[in-house]
Amino acid sequence: THSRRLLGVQDGGGGRSLLPSRWKSSQPQLDPVDRSDEEGGGDIDWDNLGFGLTPTDYMYVMRCTQEEGGFSRGELARYGNIELSPSSGVLNYGQGLFEGLKAYRRADGPGYTLFRPEENARRMQHGAGRMCMPSPSVEQFVHAVKQTVLANKRWVPPQGKGALYLRPLLIGSGAILGLAPAPEYTFMIYAAPVGTYFKEGMAAINLLVEEEIHRAMPGGTGGVKTISNYAPVLKAQMDARSKGFADVLYLDSVHKRYVEEASSCNLFVVKGGAVATPATAGTILPGVTRRSIIELARDSGYQVEERLVSIDDLISADEVFCTGTAVGVTPVSTVRVQDRRRHAVEEAVHDSDVDPDGPGGGQERMDGCG
Ligand SMILES: *Cc1c(COP(=O)(O)O)cnc(C)c1O
Repeated sequence: THSRRLLGVQDGGGGRSLLPSRWKSSQPQLDPVDRSDEEGGGDIDWDNLGFGLTPTDYMYVMRCTQEEGGFSRGELARYGNIELSPSSGVLNYGQGLFEGLKAYRRADGPGYTLFRPEENARRMQHGAGRMCMPSPSVEQFVHAVKQTVLANKRWVPPQGKGALYLRPLLIGSGAILGLAPAPEYTFMIYAAPVGTYFKEGMAAINLLVEEEIHRAMPGGTGGVKTISNYAPVLKAQMDARSKGFADVLYLDSVHKRYVEEASSCNLFVVKGGAVATPATAGTILPGVTRRSIIELARDSGYQVEERLVSIDDLISADEVFCTGTAVGVTPVSTVRVQDRRRHAVEEAVHDSDVDPDGPGGGQERMDGCG
């Protein structure tokens, strides 16, 4: 098809290569037969999905060139590797955004449910502005998401077993050498069936407060889902995992005493029936799940504050939980602060009734919730 030719999407195999085969990126092993009309995906173990990448049959591709000035009609292509210029904007300067949303099988009959896809579309538009990229319209985005779900419907897990995770990407695919926005953009969506994100499943997780590495700074891009926000924090996340923690909690980079969020999810603390979550002021990713929980909690009569949340707020909370498309609503069992003493001293400067040695000194455990 048109988009396959333009993007050089390959079905796998074929073509001579100058590189030893072990250097080639992996080609997806996909059934070449069109099975988009089928229900029920192959021999998948729906009970043990996790968050691994199970490739599906189709992806959606839509391009935007400087001459065209906007995104034209996109189309479905077989899922597979894409060809990019070595001088593409995304490879050289990280000009790219991603999104994540889920499609569920309906409980009450045939069909699928998307969770607030317009919110993801609007967030991509906002991020595209920050990253000097054109963006698909909300209608184009939602249409593309629906097409991707329908083409891969045999991969939507049975009700209650998970969801089809959709990963829209917007990248500067055009070639450019000097530092400037790319001359061409590609919007893509691929899909993968997923279960729970943390290996703990829906059980409560343990988090480690990261005190050296920061994920965002004022004036930076922490508030948009740019691909360049994530590799710099892999180190913190891997270190925490190796110590047995499910994820890291990042602190603000100015005062180093307010908690912002985890690597891929937002944070809430509950105390005495009041709910608080860090305010999004450019350094926190404004989650669709976060916004939905705020709305649901307010509708149920809870007072919800979007404000600064200190480590002490975290430690004295009755309940703590994380929210995100991938993690859903995950209860937090414990939070460890390595250098509690340092935070206690800093707080003592502002707040005379804090004991500089802090309760217990080295670390804090916080139980409850879930
Ligand atoms: C995507 C993401 C979230 C969660 O956003 P949702 O829209 O709820 O999925 C939170 N924090 C970060 C850093 C993220 O990338």
